[in-house]
Amino acid sequence: MPNIETLRQIASLNQNAKQIINRNPQEALALANEALILALDVQDPTSICSSHYFVGIGKWRLGQLNDAITSLQEADIINKYLEQPIHEVEILNTLGNIYLDLQIFDLAFTYYQMGYHKAQHQNDPRMIATLLSNIGEIYRELNDYDAALDHYQMSLEGLKDLEEKDRIIYPISNIGAVYLAQGKYDLAHEYTVQALELARFYDDRIIESLSLKFLGILAKKNFNYSQAEDYLGQSLTLYSETQELLFSTDVLFELHDLYTEQNKIQQALIYLSEAIMIGENLKANHILKQAYQRLIKDHQALNNTQNAFYFMEKYTEVSELIENDKLDQKLRSIQLMKQADITAQERDDYFLLNQQLEKAYQSAEVIHAIGRKVTATNDLEALYNIVYENLSKLMSSTTFGIAIHNDALKALQYQYLIVDEERMENHFVSLDNKKSLAVQCFTQNRSFVFRTREDIKDILHQASSSSIGNVMNSMMFVPLVIEDKAIGIITIQNRADHAYNEQSLKTLETLAAYIAIAIRNTQKNNALKAEIEEKNLIQEELAKLNKELQDLSEIDGLTGIANRRHFDEFYEYEFKRCLRSQEWMSLMMLDIDHFKEYNDHYGHLQGDEIIILIAKLIAKHAKRSSDLAVRFGGDEFIVVLSNTTQEVAHHIAMNIQKEVHARALPHAFNPVIPSISLSIGITSLIPNADTSANELLDKADQALYKAKENGRNQIQIY
Ligand code: GH3
Ligand code: MG
Repeated sequence: MPNIETLRQIASLNQNAKQIINRNPQEALALANEALILALDVQDPTSICSSHYFVGIGKWRLGQLNDAITSLQEADIINKYLEQPIHEVEILNTLGNIYLDLQIFDLAFTYYQMGYHKAQHQNDPRMIATLLSNIGEIYRELNDYDAALDHYQMSLEGLKDLEEKDRIIYPISNIGAVYLAQGKYDLAHEYTVQALELARFYDDRIIESLSLKFLGILAKKNFNYSQAEDYLGQSLTLYSETQELLFSTDVLFELHDLYTEQNKIQQALIYLSEAIMIGENLKANHILKQAYQRLIKDHQALNNTQNAFYFMEKYTEVSELIENDKLDQKLRSIQLMKQADITAQERDDYFLLNQQLEKAYQSAEVIHAIGRKVTATNDLEALYNIVYENLSKLMSSTTFGIAIHNDALKALQYQYLIVDEERMENHFVSLDNKKSLAVQCFTQNRSFVFRTREDIKDILHQASSSSIGNVMNSMMFVPLVIEDKAIGIITIQNRADHAYNEQSLKTLETLAAYIAIAIRNTQKNNALKAEIEEKNLIQEELAKLNKELQDLSEIDGLTGIANRRHFDEFYEYEFKRCLRSQEWMSLMMLDIDHFKEYNDHYGHLQGDEIIILIAKLIAKHAKRSSDLAVRFGGDEFIVVLSNTTQEVAHHIAMNIQKEVHARALPHAFNPVIPSISLSIGITSLIPNADTSANELLDKADQALYKAKENGRNQIQIY
């Protein structure tokens, strides 16, 4: 039996955590963690559950979303075994909040719905209102503003008669957000200001910083940049005070956008790097994704194609990670829901709770399934397939087509056309075909929905015939629009009457927006790729040209003395000349000792410096006009000394040695002496008919080899 004192202590720790969670989530998390340790120690399920819940909230507020989910699901499971479950609705609600943050809308929706259902059972009007407001948030995310506003109103209605009105700030703030999204800025301002005042009154930091952010956005929309900066700055300060860094990234993005709008891209980039730091620290891929998206744009604006492409790759990478995460989360949640000991009736209730919600949910799911693919794929054909397959789950079609404007042909060209489940190829509609509904949709840049044959007659003043030529009774046409310009159309048609309504048109319009984005992304991506390929080609060309020039040149690129190529010609010529005039010819070969070690320890660049230095030094000593100092390759040099006897050659070699020693270039890893040293081989002769130039070269090489073998840092004559 756990000791009652400990249980009290746990309860008080959690109570304190709850009280400060708004102002200091870090401290709250510490308290809840302390409670959890005690609770686990005494093995009291209710205390464990409660502590997990507060730990979960703390982690959520600090942006540790995945850990927060684990804690809350832990609490959720324990609740199933408790006679008197604790914080049940709040746990479900918070899980919904986290999934909303993660933009996994279907899971968020499911948890909110479960919470709503429980709250109704428990007759908890406060939580019912909270959940209605949160469900409204999902509709807002799905751009269904009417449904969102309905939910916020219901939420407000439910709070009206309650004593504790603090929750009222959520729907009020949310209503402001909807008006902001709808571009109704006056209304947005009115509600946001109200939310801000209430938030300050109830000391709710979440809504306070959120409202400040909204006011910043509103100021930006009114081109009042300094005021926008001020509000966003205040919001950012609040977030960093409470250490809610994850939520602050939204403000960082707004600040970034504020500066790019003013063309101050360099300044804007600073906010992105801050957001990326937070995203990396919290392993929040969805934040990184948003940051990369902006970086691509910025670098394109800065004409920095390489960087843009780099971030494009990062973006794709992180998008894939997000998809995998989402899948994991879903599997985990499905498993947990299966574990949940709910009756069949209850299960039915979850999903039949609201017929309209359910339907919207389904199309939302389809739309989001497609939306996710849009960002992840560059393969339009694959995307069209996905659109068709998913759309078929929502509405039946006899004909489904996506046509893109072909400027050269002055026609709409069907890239994807399915008639009676069969793929059709090479279908075109000339833009001159004024009877074509597809052409009308495209040229007028507007959507059409026809429910019956009569509808169509009204438009065409003639019998119904679809763009594909078959007789259809229900049809929808939606333009694919990029930056206000139609680039094509999407159509879905059915032989039956009343196959589609306004709702289906909305769905198709949303899809059309996604498809247009995908087409634009693909076009941009391809253009970018082509640009980079072209740049790479030019670079390759340049490198090739440079190499050709180098080959033609007789100068060694690094040291500026003669190269091997020059040597070959010069030596051949001089050897023959000495043969004719019977003069002495000496060859001196030089090689730096233990130069590999030098490179290894001092670096290749410093190694280059030494090679340059030694080359210059050797050239200085081969000073007669008929002498030639050559970089033979690597750290090896050769000096051609025509009309030079062995003694003179030896003398020159000694002078070179002397100067190298005098320079004392540090080489701590040369086992011979602690500075750079050279091994030198010399050979000399007066050429005759029996000797060849190659033989002489060979002998010089052997002399050098002997110098190396004998211990290096010396001169050998052969
Ligand atoms: P040793 O001659 O005394 O037998 O030893 P070593 O370490 O000098 O060996 P070797 O002459 O065979 O190797 C030459 C090294 O010189 C190999 C390579 O690391 C280095 N080297 C060749 N070309 C360059 C160059 O252009 N720049 C630099 N930094 N290093 C070079
Ligand atoms: Mg060497």
